[in-house]
Amino acid sequence: MQSVTISSPTQISRHSPRHARPLGGDTARKTRGSVVLDLSTQVLNNIGAPQSLMMKRKPSWIRAQLPSGEGYQAVRANIEKYGLHTICQEASCPNIGDCWSRGTATIMILGDICTRSCGFCNVKTGKPNPPDYDEPQNVGNSVALMGLRHIVITCVDRDDLPDGGAKLWAETIHEVHKKAPSTSVEALIGDFRGHSEDLMTVIESNPEILAHNLETVPRMHGTVRPQAAYSRSMRVLTQIKASGLVSKTGMMVGIGETDEEILRMLADIREKAETEIITIGQYLQPSRNHLPIDRWVHPDQFAMYKEEGLRMGFRVVESGPLVRSSFHAEEQVREYESTSA
Ligand code: SF4
Repeated sequence: MQSVTISSPTQISRHSPRHARPLGGDTARKTRGSVVLDLSTQVLNNIGAPQSLMMKRKPSWIRAQLPSGEGYQAVRANIEKYGLHTICQEASCPNIGDCWSRGTATIMILGDICTRSCGFCNVKTGKPNPPDYDEPQNVGNSVALMGLRHIVITCVDRDDLPDGGAKLWAETIHEVHKKAPSTSVEALIGDFRGHSEDLMTVIESNPEILAHNLETVPRMHGTVRPQAAYSRSMRVLTQIKASGLVSKTGMMVGIGETDEEILRMLADIREKAETEIITIGQYLQPSRNHLPIDRWVHPDQFAMYKEEGLRMGFRVVESGPLVRSSFHAEEQVREYESTSA
């Protein structure tokens, strides 16, 4: 049963999202005086009991590297210098120690407040600030300083902007191409509320990879991504593929879906959108205000998803407990290139 704490009706502001979380990053630490919805006991798997959450603690295969070292500090200084946001920090990604110590991060553009309230995501929800029109140049400068072969850029959803932020996306990609010509760009975008002309604006800026995450199986979308739709996201992927750009998607497992649904979804993606790259990783509940974990998926299961995905025709399947859409993205590009040879 959910526990609900509401200190006073006047404190429920327009910033209160559907999965009520106070603004300010880690919700577990900043709940005083705010609306708190404890979703941690909600069972998502509505076709059966929680599947294998026998271990309340993280299993041995979920082990993250602690953030430290010179590489980590250099990335941190770079991000701070240009006043940027990263999904690594905002989403409390478990891989931050690994990625940042290797000199890579995923920059998040269009601010750090999202207009949507997905039940799995740690990014703040609310009314965003106006866009920063210097951001494309700052991202370009920051990426040039990182000196990487490949960079992943993502964004918050900006349903408040008429074009969903598409023009700023395009400018950002142009700036990175201009300032860091040897760095390939992977743009991980939202669904632009299904507006294909906005998606086309991003497509025409020619990122080397254009990604959009389906996140979860169709049955779970209403709970996990209440303001999104599986069919709409599938149309985004279909349009990306039709444009000729390299297409990529991602999903998390362990949030309430079954293996059968995962395999059916992989087949559906290949059949409808012919997406080439997919990432599959374990869902980790960022705080008790987020949707609960239904099961810990064993590494052997991840290996099975990979095998099945490759058999269905995906060119690259990155599948493992700590895999995220941007985790080892450069290696995925190399693998993709090697399969095209
Ligand atoms: S996996 Fe992605 S989001 Fe997580 S730390 Fe690495 S680059 Fe950042």
